[in-house]
Amino acid sequence: MPASSTSNSSSPRKAVIQDITTREVRGTNDSGAGTRTSEYFGINTFGVRQMRDKLPRETYAKILAAVRHGKKLDLDVAPRVAQAIKEWAITHGATHFTHWFQPQTGLTAEKHDAFLSFDDGQPMEAFGASQLIQSEPDASSFPSGGLRATWEARGYTAWNPASPVFIAEWAGVKTLCIPSVFVGYNGEALDEMTPLLRSSDALSDKAIELLELLGDQGVYRVYTTLGPEQEYFLIDRAHFALRPDLVMAGRTLLGAPPPRGQQLEDHYFGGIPERIQACIAEVEHELYKLGVPIITRHNEVAPSQFEMAPRFEETDVAVDHNQLVMATLRRVALRHGLQALLHEKPFAGINGSGKHCNWSMSIAADNPDIDGYNLLKPGMTPHQNIRFLVFLAAVLRAVHKHAGLLRAGIGTSGNEHRLGANEAPPAIISVFMGNTLTKVIDAIADGKAIGSAEQQMIKLGVARLPEIEKDNTDRNRTSPFAFTGNKFEFRAVGSSQSIAFPIVLLNAAVAEAIAEITVALKAELKKTKKVDDAVLKVVRPIFKETASVRFEGNNYSDEWVKDAAKRGLLNLRRTPEALAQMVTKQSRKLLSSLNVLSDEELDSRYHVRLERYVKDMLIEMHTLREMVDTLVLPAAFSYAGDLAESASQAKAAGIKSIPQIDAANKLGASISELQKHRTTLGKVIDKAEGMHDELVKQAELLTSAGADAMQEVRKCSDLLEVSVADDSWPLPKYREMLFPV
Ligand code: ADP
Ligand code: MG
Repeated sequence: MPASSTSNSSSPRKAVIQDITTREVRGTNDSGAGTRTSEYFGINTFGVRQMRDKLPRETYAKILAAVRHGKKLDLDVAPRVAQAIKEWAITHGATHFTHWFQPQTGLTAEKHDAFLSFDDGQPMEAFGASQLIQSEPDASSFPSGGLRATWEARGYTAWNPASPVFIAEWAGVKTLCIPSVFVGYNGEALDEMTPLLRSSDALSDKAIELLELLGDQGVYRVYTTLGPEQEYFLIDRAHFALRPDLVMAGRTLLGAPPPRGQQLEDHYFGGIPERIQACIAEVEHELYKLGVPIITRHNEVAPSQFEMAPRFEETDVAVDHNQLVMATLRRVALRHGLQALLHEKPFAGINGSGKHCNWSMSIAADNPDIDGYNLLKPGMTPHQNIRFLVFLAAVLRAVHKHAGLLRAGIGTSGNEHRLGANEAPPAIISVFMGNTLTKVIDAIADGKAIGSAEQQMIKLGVARLPEIEKDNTDRNRTSPFAFTGNKFEFRAVGSSQSIAFPIVLLNAAVAEAIAEITVALKAELKKTKKVDDAVLKVVRPIFKETASVRFEGNNYSDEWVKDAAKRGLLNLRRTPEALAQMVTKQSRKLLSSLNVLSDEELDSRYHVRLERYVKDMLIEMHTLREMVDTLVLPAAFSYAGDLAESASQAKAAGIKSIPQIDAANKLGASISELQKHRTTLGKVIDKAEGMHDELVKQAELLTSAGADAMQEVRKCSDLLEVSVADDSWPLPKYREMLFPV
């Protein structure tokens, strides 16, 4: 469309506004209304419970052992299981099956194969043990960070029996999905799930050893639990389609701040608009069928921002389920003419989206007294609280020692815009403990309390710790890593990322700290008879040396940034410097000694993440340049033309005072300024693309000169947006996208 025709109300942007205001609200297509959720929850899954009903007892016991005890699956059970799964899937209308896995793209991958087979020319449905257990997708098209250069391109997916198989139902097509890991020819981790399972095993082994020392018998596994709270925006799909930046990069690269953002504080927990409600109910309905236990929904702080959270589950299942949450949100939103934005910072100057990862550790034991016990839950007896304090100490030590690595785990181009911006935790990793615990920890660290452990606990007023529940209610919402009563909440995690990697790093760091505590406790037990007394002696120095990572104040404040620097805490604002923390000596040692990631695997992961950052940045910069050239400048030129024309008409009419001339001159100056920065942007793009095999340097250039140029271009363009006639502006404005009418 020629630029001049944007100056009338038939522009696509205006047409969209017209369309939206007259559009009818679409009801829920399928929200399960009228049916009890419990009646259809998990109907599209075939997990341990369904296997119990469909499999011989012996086979079921083996599966259960694999799932519950983290044991390797006996291969001789596979044919029976495959048979049962096939029967279930085809009765439910599935025509195809796929190994469903998580390559390092942040998303999931699947390749569908038909059940259809031929026996003597007769068509039939077939699905055998080998198809259940293993498949061989072409690994060469997934990011491997150089791993595939050294090994063969072959990769394998292998069934992870701990996560239930499910039937994905899209557009009426039903596909059996088999949650799987994805590994290279020699078992190298190529995906997100493999290191997660390894880190869970490491943590379990180390924790069992410590628990045995503490006198807890019969523990066969310690598993981590995870409840990720997913934040997202929902905007009109028609607006989305008119924004190349949202389509290409998931965030607005341009856009002047609206006069009203979130300052009225009227959106948080406000009533959910009808159209959104219909969409969310349908998302939940789809997720319930898949056995994803979504339990809360609410408006978030920013306009058009929402959150959904599940009941927590075992970590690997929670990771799979979060992928299903993101995919379902994206797909179902489209049915309602909406677009789900999962990016960490879709709108500048407005709150971004995170994914608070609630995390804890629980016991699985033959001993009913402790089976299911949450290790981060304050107890009712001095002994339980000693156990609680020792695991708390382990987490503190882990976060203190590996803060840089934890920051690396959440280092993406998207999260870079969120961390340290509006109401988001800064890039400094610190831990919030709450009043009650801070007092207890400080007192123990100071060595003030004396006597036996029991006497000390009583003296500290923590023989029982029920008051933590109370303390929890006014907890700090600004902390990147907060203790919230019976779990930690890793709040700095980004909304769009796979949560597997941050949890891998957390699990590993905690496993290492637990192992160190075990060593120290063993040594202490040679001197101190009673275990509880020895434990207090062991945690004392840990509470002392980790004091610098504990912070109870406002993490959003500038003072904290200064204070943190004095404390020697890392403040890694940019992604490349954060990612560099993955490959320090300390990080390598942590991950390789626990067999979570070998040096080679870690290097490849670092490479994948850094390369992704570079690609994200270049996509954004190209998109921005194109938007400036094809949308912003033409609109500005067109309006400048209008002003000139109006000025010459005024002159012809003999009018003396012609303010249009002044306006046109100002506009001209703004246009020149934009062009200048657009040229710089282009130069940085060219320079970055001219660098070969210099990934680190490329990333450094893009994160400095590249980000700066984008910032400058944006500033100029946003100024033009508020100077050019509304009718001439081609891009949906913030007010239109965020405040749908
Ligand atoms: P909030 O005040 O943050 O909403 P909630 O108690 O409602 O706190 O929990 C938020 C999330 O934390 C939910 O997903 C919940 O299931 C999860 N959660 C609760 N207990 C645990 C636990 N022991 N381990 C992991 N996640 C948990
Ligand atoms: Mg929360």
